[in-house]
Amino acid sequence: MTSAELLTKAETYLYPNYKPARIVFARGKGSELFDVEGKRYLDLAAGVAVCAVGHAHPDHAKAIADQAATLIHVSNYFYNDVNVRLAEALCQRAGMAKAFFCNSGAEANEAALKLARRHFFAKGETSRSRLVAFHSAFHGRTLGALSMTGTPKYKEGFGAPGGVSHVTYGDLDAVKAEMKDDVCAVVVEPLQGEGGVVPPPPGFLEGLRELCDRSGALLLMDEVQTGIGRLGAWFGFQRAGVRPDAITLAKGLGGGVPIGAMLTSEALAGSLPPGTHGSTFGGNPLACAAALSVLSILEREKLVDGARDKGDRLGKLLAGVAAELPSVCEGERGQGLLRGLVLREGFVARDILPKIAARGVLLTAAGDRVLRFSPPLVVTDAELQEGVSIVREVLAASAKT
Ligand SMILES: *Cc1c(COP(=O)(O)O)cnc(C)c1O
Repeated sequence: MTSAELLTKAETYLYPNYKPARIVFARGKGSELFDVEGKRYLDLAAGVAVCAVGHAHPDHAKAIADQAATLIHVSNYFYNDVNVRLAEALCQRAGMAKAFFCNSGAEANEAALKLARRHFFAKGETSRSRLVAFHSAFHGRTLGALSMTGTPKYKEGFGAPGGVSHVTYGDLDAVKAEMKDDVCAVVVEPLQGEGGVVPPPPGFLEGLRELCDRSGALLLMDEVQTGIGRLGAWFGFQRAGVRPDAITLAKGLGGGVPIGAMLTSEALAGSLPPGTHGSTFGGNPLACAAALSVLSILEREKLVDGARDKGDRLGKLLAGVAAELPSVCEGERGQGLLRGLVLREGFVARDILPKIAARGVLLTAAGDRVLRFSPPLVVTDAELQEGVSIVREVLAASAKT
């Protein structure tokens, strides 16, 4: 079938809650995607920071195929040999004690929210249930995760549960003012992703740790986008040098196979006792084999250090574009291979993406005015240069019109 035929069917049968670009992909290799007609695209989005080891990595593909031919699912009525090994691998890298597995970022955050409330409930502190979260934070689309999400347009009309106070990201005084004895946890992204690729101001995460220690609240870090090497460390909190009580993971973890996880400290090991939380698919051998393979590829190909070094070079390239086109660009920001080119007031990132895609480069928008670069961690310097130079040309043309 041609792209045109598939697009007609898509409009007929797919639920229209998304507004995808009119490109139908059929195949990928490394940082490249090919549409149904074989047109090549340079993928600097990686399925929103998901395809950490690129597309169709042979070792990743083999690990998934081998596991599919061995054992896909047993449920959590039994152990399986794969999720035990993944739990160990993640806990060792994060310096955490326990791993809970689920299937997405929203679910991982749902687990963390339930963990925080249940932790204090079990201690008899039943009124300690309020969370502190941040404006522009993104934590997912289930109702619980939505209650923590800090962007009103995602929440409107859904009756998401309350009990979450939002303050400005980076504003420690505002957090401090909220830290009454009814707060069970602060939930924070170590760098805001969807909110516009916003790094934490210096001392912010350290300050949150201190405020939580002082009040006894938990510090939960949503590492769904920042974890698994993206920021040039296994986890964003390691880059910041701040130890959270629990973190959540998803996006890059399975390299495209759906899997989410929550890692907790030993002190929280008893907070969700048997029967209080679960997931039918969570921790299934297929998804866990994909994740184990991602970890081993990242290690073998030194892609975590690579994300730091390539990210620094990407940052310089983007800073160069911003300096060259000051009428369009405000600047560059980010860490590792999660970078944003910030556009001037009046420019809309979403409107520029199709022009960049037409030139064969794929990016996503973060917030209203940020072009987000979240390439596969296997991306090469040549690919980054190619992508940035096309973005520069498109933006230079926008500057003139
Ligand atoms: C993408 C994202 C989520 C939601 O993940 P889903 O897998 O879409 O549910 C949650 N938190 C952060 C920081 C994210 O970037």
